[in-house]
Amino acid sequence: MARYTGASCRLCRREGKKLFLKGERCYSDKCALTRQRPIPGQHGAGRKKISEYGLQMRTKQSAKRYYGVLENQFAHYFEMADRQAGMTGENLLRILESRLDNIVYRAGFAASRKEARQLIRHGFFNLNGHKANIPSILTKAGDVISVTKTDSNKIKTVVEANSARPKPQWMDIDSDKLTVKVIQLPAREDIDFDVQEHLIVELYSK
Ligand code: SF4
Repeated sequence: MARYTGASCRLCRREGKKLFLKGERCYSDKCALTRQRPIPGQHGAGRKKISEYGLQMRTKQSAKRYYGVLENQFAHYFEMADRQAGMTGENLLRILESRLDNIVYRAGFAASRKEARQLIRHGFFNLNGHKANIPSILTKAGDVISVTKTDSNKIKTVVEANSARPKPQWMDIDSDKLTVKVIQLPAREDIDFDVQEHLIVELYSK
């Protein structure tokens, strides 16, 4: 599957916001955005005006990059969100937050979503007692994610390194047993991603 293999910080600078793609570095003053480096490209610093369509497109791109999702999959999530009752934009964010790789990252069991995907693919996690090695699995309220016993020491080290990160209220994290239970899927106010999701809805509604 095609994946972006370039510099992660470049993506944040392009979107003008932290996308938290590099683990610990993102929470330190080594972050490229904290140091305020300009938008990449020859005319990066000179880019000022942006059209309505451009803003909608950038918003979608930033969401895709933040969650590490490719175009087709993102469009599929939008269709799912559109079919659900309620606000489509909020539904979309809730679906993205429910991905197994996001849960593992949010729980502090991985330094970044990218690392979470690698660990999941390598079989580090169980979902409801069964091995789960697909990062895009969508979890639901009541699901329990645990670490396979043989791999617990490695994950414990990661958990300790990430212990200062804020933990979501919508999941019950046991850092000793290395389990996380999804209490409920998050409401919009529980999701700390700085994005105007209505712009994504407008883009797909054209
Ligand atoms: Fe983005 Fe992290 Fe790089 Fe900062 S350190 S620019 S948040 S990837």
